Amino acid sequence: MSTHKDDFPWHIGVYDAHCHPTDIMSSIPSIPSMKARCLTVMGTRAQDQDLVSQVADQYGIKNDNHEAWKREECMVPCFGWHPWFAHMMYLEHPSGPEGEGTGERPEKVLQDEDKIKHYQNVLAPRREDPSEEDKKTYLSLPDPTPFSVFLSQTRKNLAKYPYALVGEIGLDRSFRIPEAFQTEREENEFTPGGREGRRLTPFRCAPAHQKEIFRQQLMLAAEMNRAVSVHGVQAHGLVFDTIKELWKDHQRPVLSKREKKKRGKDDPSVESQLASSQKNDGEPKPYPPRICLHSYSGSPDAFKQYLNPAIPVAFFASFSTAINLGDAVGEETPQSFVDMIRTVPDDMVLVESDLHTAGNEMDRRLEDIVRRICKIKGWDLEEGAERLGRNWRRFVFGTEG
Ligand SMILES: [Zn+2]
Repeated sequence: MSTHKDDFPWHIGVYDAHCHPTDIMSSIPSIPSMKARCLTVMGTRAQDQDLVSQVADQYGIKNDNHEAWKREECMVPCFGWHPWFAHMMYLEHPSGPEGEGTGERPEKVLQDEDKIKHYQNVLAPRREDPSEEDKKTYLSLPDPTPFSVFLSQTRKNLAKYPYALVGEIGLDRSFRIPEAFQTEREENEFTPGGREGRRLTPFRCAPAHQKEIFRQQLMLAAEMNRAVSVHGVQAHGLVFDTIKELWKDHQRPVLSKREKKKRGKDDPSVESQLASSQKNDGEPKPYPPRICLHSYSGSPDAFKQYLNPAIPVAFFASFSTAINLGDAVGEETPQSFVDMIRTVPDDMVLVESDLHTAGNEMDRRLEDIVRRICKIKGWDLEEGAERLGRNWRRFVFGTEG
């Protein structure tokens, strides 16, 4: 069978590595009839975790063999707390009988003076002596809830959905916290809690607080042996360092070139040493097995630190027209993007839409980004779709499925 040069090889299977269709629930029924084969659907905040599991009950994949999926198996659920919402959570110290994990105790929200104190502590710039205006702003934000309760609920969700991942989590140093919800916006088609159409406060969430929320979710992913989708904006060094703290005592042995040459390529001890460092011996690891840097926006140079062969985590980077190309579907590919894609090894690249509505537009975005990446990598479209599909399955399942 000959295919036209420009036909897009949807039949090979195109996978969206990161998207938010639960932001517009009315778009969900279109997923099984999309051209894309499977969507990786993120959870970000209080309002969308249950929506993600609801969609998973209907459309979640039931096994890791993509060739056996029915058409209605077309999404992978992900549960996580996004850095844009980190300030709404308070961290308790695991003192007393109510440490994290029981999930039994009633959720205590912070109000009045406690709430002011919390926001004073977690918002930057920190006001040593908050003005009346500051206090008004603090009190207008959501009542903070305990992060431990969210973590136990997420652990339950991960247990319930064995193919679920952790995401979207991460760090964002540029995000300004919006003012309280405007009820008119909440009554329209958008799932509440997003930031559409809201004015901004002068505050950001302090990096130390974001980092702890991020770190505890990475540890949960490690405990449950799940892959993670990570958001990093103006925090590329801090993202790397936070993950590195988890793996630092578990680096892979890396033989120097000289050493390899001395021992010879066929020396079984070389192979076995490398193999044993990678194989899962059942011991729980303190770091997640696989991590995708979603809509990666760091520089090619900053990305190179992820290529160190001593790193035991399998890293991936995914790219979207929405974030990496400023929504410019079909326009010329900027040189900076070309340089970035050339820096990412072929087996680490993923594609995503990062859109909050499923359907035709999502397909259009995916086709656009796949075409650009294939062109840069010198792959024909079929080969490219094949490779990108294998990469996605390796990211989600740890095998090529
Ligand atoms: Zn996202």
